[in-house]
Amino acid sequence: MQTLLLKGNQIDEAGAILRKGGLVAIPTETVYGLAANALDGSTVAKIFEAKGRPQDNPLIVHIADISEIDNLVAYVPPVLYDLADAFWPGPLTIILDKSDLVPDEVTAGLDTVAIRMPSHPVARKIIRAAGVPLAAPSANASGKPSPTTAAHVIKDMDGKIDAIVDGGPCEVGVESTVITLAARKPRLLRPGRITPEEIEEVIGDELIIDDAVLGRLKEGEKAASPGMKYKHYSPSADVVIVKGTLENFAKFVNERAGEDAAALVFDGEEDKIKCKTKNFGEENDDLAHAAKLFDALRACDDEGVGTLYVRCPGDEGVGLAVMNRLLRAADFHIEEV
Ligand code: AMP
Ligand code: MG
Repeated sequence: MQTLLLKGNQIDEAGAILRKGGLVAIPTETVYGLAANALDGSTVAKIFEAKGRPQDNPLIVHIADISEIDNLVAYVPPVLYDLADAFWPGPLTIILDKSDLVPDEVTAGLDTVAIRMPSHPVARKIIRAAGVPLAAPSANASGKPSPTTAAHVIKDMDGKIDAIVDGGPCEVGVESTVITLAARKPRLLRPGRITPEEIEEVIGDELIIDDAVLGRLKEGEKAASPGMKYKHYSPSADVVIVKGTLENFAKFVNERAGEDAAALVFDGEEDKIKCKTKNFGEENDDLAHAAKLFDALRACDDEGVGTLYVRCPGDEGVGLAVMNRLLRAADFHIEEV
């Protein structure tokens, strides 16, 4: 298949492909999404094929207007409107009990559906042009770090999908925050740009943090969010998170780093490290860490890095999302130095 490369203003072209049952990678404020008509199960099935995504990992449905939600869910709890007022359009995904209109292919057979209203202007225009809600997981090959530029999408998806819309680099850089309102208590399933503290302020209640956010699921344990059980976001390199001072980090890495090693460090620390380095923002800049993480992991793959040592960032605020992704990239390998 020839994959069409579209610019951010070619909205009508993207909408037409989606209406005809095609797959289009679209920019959002979080990461690039691989979109298809969410109301057509056989079209949605093609997303799983293109990504090599496990069949039991459900997709997020993207809407442009709050009115679209009524068709997609069985019941709208009042707190949904408070959350929508505060965070939509934006990087928050909310899980609710689904309506019969949502095909099983979208929800991987679950009774619930994940819904988000993205804020990226190109994404919003494309949803409107398509005239239907769009099911869209991240537009990477399954298991690889999510794409934050059109070049990342081309690398994984060229020849496998109908079109890629280039909207420039994604601002947030990690996938949306996912919470469920379909459980007894609101629960955070995946951290992202919208933090638990921000959500608690709006819902006026505790947001339970699912164990899978920073922990590893035990053998046979059922994931509240199926995506959390997969080794995810991982480059080909072995990733090691190294926790400690810069001096101890440098000593640890400089003693071990072989020819094909690299270190992911905070800005300005490069001189202390003897192997190749990448950086991901200043030490306390959680937004920069989020925005740059996946690009750094992908660059390591492109350059054939065998082992990547990562300076351990803080897990406060958006840092919780960064650590969640890093822990999975590292298969939970942390060294304290
Ligand atoms: P992605 O769009 O690639 O970031 O993946 C979507 C994420 O949302 C995955 O981690 C899914 O497991 C999660 N998700 C989507 N729908 C549901 C649902 N109905 N219940 C729980 N998690 C969901
Ligand atoms: Mg994904």
